[in-house]
Amino acid sequence: MSAGPSFNPIFAGLGTTIFSVMSALALENGAINLGQGFPDEDGPVSVREAAAQALRTGPNQYPPTRGMGALRAAIAAHAKRFHGFDFDPDREVLVTSGATEALACCIYGLASAGREVVVIEPAYDSYRPIAQSAGAEVRRVVLEPPEFELRRESLAAVVGPRTAAVLVNTPLNPAGRVFRRAELEVLAEVVRPSGAAVIADEVYEHLTFDGVPHLSPLAIPGLEDRVLRVGSAGKMFSLTGWKVGWVTGPAALVEVAAKAHQFLTFTTSPALQLGIAYGLENEMGFTLGLRDALQAKRDFLASALTELGFELMPCEGTYFLTASIRTLSAESDRDFCLRLVKEAKVALVPLSPFFETATPDHLVRFAFCKRQEVLAEAITRLQRYLQKRKV
Ligand code: PMP
Ligand code: GLN
Repeated sequence: MSAGPSFNPIFAGLGTTIFSVMSALALENGAINLGQGFPDEDGPVSVREAAAQALRTGPNQYPPTRGMGALRAAIAAHAKRFHGFDFDPDREVLVTSGATEALACCIYGLASAGREVVVIEPAYDSYRPIAQSAGAEVRRVVLEPPEFELRRESLAAVVGPRTAAVLVNTPLNPAGRVFRRAELEVLAEVVRPSGAAVIADEVYEHLTFDGVPHLSPLAIPGLEDRVLRVGSAGKMFSLTGWKVGWVTGPAALVEVAAKAHQFLTFTTSPALQLGIAYGLENEMGFTLGLRDALQAKRDFLASALTELGFELMPCEGTYFLTASIRTLSAESDRDFCLRLVKEAKVALVPLSPFFETATPDHLVRFAFCKRQEVLAEAITRLQRYLQKRKV
């Protein structure tokens, strides 16, 4: 008898991402989906028209592996307009199939066996398996709720000469933190002597609230030669299914990320690239308006959830509000979410999958990138359920 195929243990050992799990349960149970982070209204018609026209008229064959010239130029112009960065579209910009692929390109380009990748938890769930599949060891920094503050001691404890890259997500999914200059300066002071690079996941760069400015780690003195920035058109234009992302940064770093990209996807749909190029040039007003609309939705949800007895963490950006369930339940975050989706018909996401260890397990995430009436209906359902049943 021959032996069966063997699997890569990194991927074979993984569960299904919590976002897919909760979305499937939402569908199955007829629940309102405040779990997976996607808007329930599509972004600008003009952007979709630009892509549709490009589909009809072409080009429809392989675009250049680094991305179409029009989109690379638009990404560089956007970075100049909003951050003052001067990127050379030919050498310092790489278009990818979503930020997920961009992150993989950056990690594969920088990390290898014998090296380490530092993740800051709560951390987006793709970082760890990709770093591990590159052969790197993952070291973690855990941010403590409710402040989720980045502290020198915890960073300095794990960054060293073996560190290939530190992954920093600001604004931070799921905690809604926007790292301040002082925290990023600490990052620079700790990272610089180690020789490590920084991968800055800035997919929510425009979604910050109450005037809190988004600051890219690349803007911090000492980091200008070592930050790969990751962006996502899906988040800017409420077109998450398009999966158009990009990497910007110093040429040498972008070059190595582009080497990984040529064998991950090689390129991205030309029509979608041209649609996003149009959006970056003509529809940033949509993105800035989205930020204001989201802030109002955050406020609505925050006050309603507080009335229902949830203890909320501060939310400075992203699509997400995080709450403690301890005032309501002694269950784990996962059990609480599984019960709520079935019984209250509202889907949330537990925070524990964003940590390597089982704790903290008392926090849940509400996505508020939904229509006002959907948020209101979710609150009505929660209210009814919590009144009926002491949770
Ligand atoms: N990073 C973070 C922090 C995210 O929340 C997401 C998903 N929304 C991504 C990366 C992936 O973005 P994309 O859909 O463009 O692949
Ligand atoms: N980023 C989205 C979230 O945090 C999910 C993206 C995905 O499902 N891959 O909900």
